[in-house]
Amino acid sequence: MITTTGLSKHFQDLEVLKNIDLQVAAKDIVVVLGPSGSGKSTLLRCLNGLEDISGGSFEVNGIRVESAASKRARQQATREIRKQSGMVFQQFNLYPHMTALGNVTEGLITVKKLPKEQAVAIGRKLLHRVGLADREDYYPSRLSGGQQQRVAIARSLAMEPAVMLFDEPTSALDPELVGEVLSVMRELAQEGMTMLVVSHEMKFAREVATKVVLMADGNIVEEAAPQSFFEDPQQERTRKFLRQIN
Ligand code: ADP
Ligand code: MG
Repeated sequence: MITTTGLSKHFQDLEVLKNIDLQVAAKDIVVVLGPSGSGKSTLLRCLNGLEDISGGSFEVNGIRVESAASKRARQQATREIRKQSGMVFQQFNLYPHMTALGNVTEGLITVKKLPKEQAVAIGRKLLHRVGLADREDYYPSRLSGGQQQRVAIARSLAMEPAVMLFDEPTSALDPELVGEVLSVMRELAQEGMTMLVVSHEMKFAREVATKVVLMADGNIVEEAAPQSFFEDPQQERTRKFLRQIN
């Protein structure tokens, strides 16, 4: 579903992604770990077309973006890719002047051009799915962080993405609100969504990931099934990382 081949990205002289080769198969849950500044967000931003790539190529659901192609060809491809992938950020980025339901239906009405009643029916179903059926009329300022993030997930799902990208979706939340967001993500995983998740939630990585990837300094250091990643890491860098978080 996602393949990157020699993907690189630099900002001026700063090499942030160095030859990244990553595969995410359909229904995989790939959890990316790594210290701050290692390039995790930049990787997701490249995959969602929020950053242009500097080298190599990547593919999302069969749509290919090559650094060697013209800027115009890349832009065209990334526009298509954005329709196929949903992204959830650390800061929930909801529209403050719209209710929970308004946030979820916005894209259905303006992008997918659905009639309002149909958008509302889908929006209600999605709010129900993330446990917020009773909050549809609430504005973001009256929702907790965990509720806002669940609205953000519902809003992404409304566009029927083939893959979901999560960038530290629980890092801005008070500890007691982390669980409700992770449980929505677990359910999505169980329903067969393909997910690429940057997270520091080790329990989630252990229990839900099909593959765990450690990034450091713009490189993939190690990738493995969770059991071998956590119980039998092959790289000294991975052992050091695991020591630091424990
Ligand atoms: P992570 O998400 O793993 O913490 P990031 O992908 O956010 O790491 O950042 C990787 C590196 O790229 C950092 O050194 C960061 O300062 C740098 N960086 C990220 N975005 C930009 C940008 N727009 N311009 C310049 N440097 C950037
Ligand atoms: Mg980041």
